[in-house]
Amino acid sequence: MNGYDNVVGQVQIKDFIKKSVCRNKISHAYIFNGEKGGGRNKLARLFAATLQCTGEYDEWNIESFSKPCGKCRSCLQMESGNQPDVITVTHEKSTIGVDDIRDQVNNSVGIKPYAGPYKIYIIPEADKMTEQAQNALLKTIEEPPEYAVIMLIVESIGSLLPTILSRCVQLNMKPLSETEIVDYLMKNCKIPDYMAQASALFSQGNIGKAIRYATDEDFIEIKDIVIKSLKVLDNKRVDELLDIVRQFKDEGYNIEDYLDIVMLWYRDILLYKAVKDPSMVMFKEEARAIDRQARVRSYEDIESCLKAVDKAKQRLNANVNFDITMELLLITLKEIS
Ligand SMILES: [Zn+2]
Repeated sequence: MNGYDNVVGQVQIKDFIKKSVCRNKISHAYIFNGEKGGGRNKLARLFAATLQCTGEYDEWNIESFSKPCGKCRSCLQMESGNQPDVITVTHEKSTIGVDDIRDQVNNSVGIKPYAGPYKIYIIPEADKMTEQAQNALLKTIEEPPEYAVIMLIVESIGSLLPTILSRCVQLNMKPLSETEIVDYLMKNCKIPDYMAQASALFSQGNIGKAIRYATDEDFIEIKDIVIKSLKVLDNKRVDELLDIVRQFKDEGYNIEDYLDIVMLWYRDILLYKAVKDPSMVMFKEEARAIDRQARVRSYEDIESCLKAVDKAKQRLNANVNFDITMELLLITLKEIS
């Protein structure tokens, strides 16, 4: 099990967890809120491991905080994914339904933990819970047994019911600084500095993405393909553009990367339009194309493009048909130009 030092940044959340444990002030429900790849799952599992750890512990203070110990029975079980009192809720469909919550949480929460002091339920992608599922979970969160702790992992709290939100402690992940990411990549992944810089810049504070960009040899290639497709946007029909995107996907590239780069491209155009300084943009080698776009597009246009990319991400997350989602996006990007 990795210790807290192995999670980059997120100092506030780490301190909060340590303080809560030291003061023995544990709530029954937590929300880890933030982007994928930012370390939410890792932190939730660390928190769970800490709560269950039975290792020797001399001093209850943050400076000498040594839990999880990594050696006790519980820690070893955590490491192998077999801690019986830490349950990760899974789901087979695109949403988490009421039966998933009933079967995996409500029906077993009344049974006391086998060995640990707590019975912990981790629910990844909890923002995919249907309203019914959330109402079912609410029953447990409203009247939990003394030993129960529920950890919800979400990308945004927007789809959670206010009744759920009001009963959970919210832990909001913060984007990392460029320096934090560069340091991490250079030290832990042995990435050369120029590569670490570029990856940090494109990752927008998300360590998971930064590691992927820095270690994925295809990333530069992916970036070039996407930018090329954006530059021909004005000269091609929507069906031709859709073919390019389909081909991108069929070649095994990650469509999230595609959308991330499109997002950064329009952010660049927006930034350039506002400051007219080519040294501030991310795609410096594309300064001419960005300048042209910034001149022909209004602020409203660019905002609409950014919103459209966001919408496309949400649609794909909610399993809306790929072609339809991308076509809608391309129409919006094209219409405005
Ligand atoms: Zn331990």
